[in-house]
Amino acid sequence: MSSTIALIIIGVAVLFIIGIKLLASPKTARLGNLVAAAGMLVALLTLHKPTGEYVWSQGWTMNYTLIAIGTLIGLVIGAIGAYSVKMTAMPQMVALFNGLGGGAAALVASLEFIKPDREITTFIAVTMLFATLIGSLSFSGSIIAYLKLEGKFEKPMTFPGQNILNGLILLVILGLGVYLAGWGANATAFIVMFLLALFFGIAMVMPIGGADMPVVISLLNSFTGLAVAADGFAINNLAMVVAGTLVGSSGTLLTLLMCKAMNRPVTNVLFGAFGSGGGGGKGGAGDLGGKTVKPIQADEAALLLGYAQQVVIVPGYGMAVAQAQHQVRELSDELGKRGVEVRFAIHPVAGRMPGHMNVLLAEANVPYDQLCEMEAINPTMDRVDVCLVIGANDVVNPAAREDKSSPIYGMPIIEADRAKTVIVLKRSMAKGFAGIENHLFYKDNTRMLFGDAKASLQTLIAQLKAS
Ligand code: NAP
Repeated sequence: MSSTIALIIIGVAVLFIIGIKLLASPKTARLGNLVAAAGMLVALLTLHKPTGEYVWSQGWTMNYTLIAIGTLIGLVIGAIGAYSVKMTAMPQMVALFNGLGGGAAALVASLEFIKPDREITTFIAVTMLFATLIGSLSFSGSIIAYLKLEGKFEKPMTFPGQNILNGLILLVILGLGVYLAGWGANATAFIVMFLLALFFGIAMVMPIGGADMPVVISLLNSFTGLAVAADGFAINNLAMVVAGTLVGSSGTLLTLLMCKAMNRPVTNVLFGAFGSGGGGGKGGAGDLGGKTVKPIQADEAALLLGYAQQVVIVPGYGMAVAQAQHQVRELSDELGKRGVEVRFAIHPVAGRMPGHMNVLLAEANVPYDQLCEMEAINPTMDRVDVCLVIGANDVVNPAAREDKSSPIYGMPIIEADRAKTVIVLKRSMAKGFAGIENHLFYKDNTRMLFGDAKASLQTLIAQLKAS
């Protein structure tokens, strides 16, 4: 490898790492995306290696034409998708993009593996088979995750002995992998392994509830990263090794952080068939052990807000569904004009994807310094006059603290119930993602403002302006 190529690879790796670092804050996330994309563009243009030599040193070739065609098709599809996708459908888009990445990694490895007259070491054969296996299961698993998020078959599909059957399929795949790595490319064995890996991706995701898909996608994303890294070894492209390892490790960390924020082990997500309610049981009796909820009218709620000194807004999935982020911003501004201190409490798994609330509030230009993380805001909740819960449910459920038998017991929550008054904006007594009653709604200091979040906020703003 020439020293120029080595320098380019280091430069590309640095761009990827800086990009990821910048993604850590909403303020710098856009720039982070651009920086990482610039790294990818440099890698695309300079580090393609078709015949032992890097293309950039050979001038314009057929490969460049192919790269240009592929890049253009990808750009058009990506731009149309990104501009047209609704904010609430973002997890589906991530699932699709991830699936395509996994599929591409599997195809690269398969084509390399079945190339005729190719002398490869056992190590390289193993990396190719690994990339084929992991990439194809990530592809089919992501497609199922996409369909589940689209509401096609949200409920977990389980049957007795399912985990044993999946284990057996995995064993057959591994057996075939060992055979292929040890005894060379056998087309039939390879195709069977490829198909079984595709099937395994489907079988792995089918038993998982629709609402757990963001965690599954994050896990599959880390699989795609590993497949790309293995591809990098297989075709001797160090930039792919670096990019794949970064995606693999960040996907794994994100999966673990999401599971920690939900207080559930990864095994519970993968094998627990949790969230069978599919993101919100429609029922909800509206009474918890004889206790009933206390509704509030918009004019009274506006009065409480207008005379408060400190207000904390807790946004949740319902705000995303109602697309009420602009009204939330308007309400916050209106309160600000009256000298009320407004802060936003952001739970790490509020909504249906990591950073969901940050993205929506950023879209509505809510200043970043008003956003507080759960750990920062909880110690201050006793001093808060009004906590306005907008379409959040599980992330403010005190059952996580009070009820040892609750499936969310131990999950860190935003302690809205400790505010002097809590006003909850939701349409009905329907449950949240976890499908359980929310103890907060029945507390003495809680009042329920029923209705679509956007409509309720518009009334609140009008009432405040009129008063
Ligand atoms: P949630 O518990 O799912 O509750 C959302 C609430 O929004 C529902 O109770 C619903 O009640 C209300 N709602 C829906 N549409 C509304 C509208 N138009 N107007 C007003 N309210 C509306 O949401 P969350 O508190 O944000 O909690 C997120 C849950 O998702 C957690 O359990 C978390 O573990 C899980 N999860 C999150 C992620 C992630 O990455 N963020 C990933 C996987 C799982 P009504 O129908 O009565 O209105």
